[in-house]
Amino acid sequence: MKFLVHTYGCQMNVRDSEAVEALMIAAGHERVSREEDAELVIVNSCTVRQKAEEKAVGKAGNLIAAGKLTGLMGCAVKRLGADVFSRLPKLDFAVGPRAAGLIPKIVADGRFPRLELGEEGMSEALSSHVAGGAKAFVTILVGCDNRCSYCIVPDVRGHEYSRPAREVVAEVRALAARGVKEVCLLGQSVLRYGVANAAWGASDAPSPGGYSEAFPRLLEAIAGIGGIRRIRFTSAHPRGCTEELARAFREFPQVCRHIHLPVQSGSDRILADMGRRYTRAEYLAAVARMRALDPALSVTTDVIVGYPGETEEDFEATRSLMDEAGFDNSFIFKYSPRPGTRSAAKPDDVPPEEKERRNQVLLADQERRGLERNRRLVGTVAEVMVEGPSKRNASRLSGRDGGNRIVVWEAPEGEPAPREGAFVNVRIADAHPQTLIGEVQ
Ligand code: SAH
Ligand code: SF4
Repeated sequence: MKFLVHTYGCQMNVRDSEAVEALMIAAGHERVSREEDAELVIVNSCTVRQKAEEKAVGKAGNLIAAGKLTGLMGCAVKRLGADVFSRLPKLDFAVGPRAAGLIPKIVADGRFPRLELGEEGMSEALSSHVAGGAKAFVTILVGCDNRCSYCIVPDVRGHEYSRPAREVVAEVRALAARGVKEVCLLGQSVLRYGVANAAWGASDAPSPGGYSEAFPRLLEAIAGIGGIRRIRFTSAHPRGCTEELARAFREFPQVCRHIHLPVQSGSDRILADMGRRYTRAEYLAAVARMRALDPALSVTTDVIVGYPGETEEDFEATRSLMDEAGFDNSFIFKYSPRPGTRSAAKPDDVPPEEKERRNQVLLADQERRGLERNRRLVGTVAEVMVEGPSKRNASRLSGRDGGNRIVVWEAPEGEPAPREGAFVNVRIADAHPQTLIGEVQ
């Protein structure tokens, strides 16, 4: 059957969609890129904010109206449960985030409507990848036990579970054998790897580098796999920014000089209410510890504006923290109450116009700061992994440096363009807030 997966939400969803594609292809189905060619369309949904959920559910509704066989997967399914069929009465099937591995079986059975919210098929999905490409996401930790006050992720993605290190290492080896050069290790809080359950078995050999923490030890093991030139991970938490982690950054050149460290707020009062388990000062100390390794280390973050009770003073504390931390990039979210979370019991008292204003202020700050940070790189040489022609201008090539910054440069005339996954040295000639402009050496 010809099928297509549409993905909303985070990188974890991108990874889950890829796993479904791989399992469907293995079951003999054909992946197509145009919706009109697809007989089956699967929508992978997000529910982290109300708007995100509405988009995905709305998309599924349109597909149903267009007469496609339609499946919904991902976080919104788990939140809605059986209600998903009152929202979408003609939906063919719905599977929660840990049940995506069942999709080929559900399609083969052909008994609709069907709802699966369990964990059957999870391990199969976790290790399935589509062949091709130089980059791959690898999920190392599923679920989350942090229970930040505003967040629905623990309800929909379930308890935290670290995949065994042996399984992860075997998966990365197989990816490297297929030509993958960059892996991005995924989890809601990857520095908690091996905390809720042991990731390293009793029979695993001791770490040659003497790492005792599970995550740095995993970095060491992956850095030892031939062919893997870059290792990224997301998301991190300040509590995991230990000396051992810093040592792993220093010792393994494959570990990219980038850390995504969501801060959410710069106000201690709001951070405490959110249950983030760090103060502003602790957060800034973690950033300083990591940047001590390398002042050019790229630090990116997530911030929520308009959290219940967020005053102008709290907001200004967030602004000043963002300047002090010197974020290279930031993702700003307007607070959205999620049913059943602790903060949803509080009045959502920052008006929408004010949330929007705060959002715009932080975006403008980030433009200025991004430009300042990027300007420091002018004149340096970046090692860039080629992604392909630039989206805006096809005569240019685009790729990313180790800090995950986008670098764009003119493709040299008369030479074959470097392939996706090739590494080239590019001299940075100019800087924009979100992009670096380069010249090939
Ligand atoms: N596990 C990651 C974040 C996962 S959710 C971490 O803790 O680092 C991605 C981002 O969505 C969060 O960092 C937060 O900024 C935002 N977010 C989560 N719940 C939200 C809500 N209810 N309203 C607005 N933004 C939210
Ligand atoms: Fe949500 Fe907090 Fe878990 Fe991140 S760490 S997924 S914000 S509960």
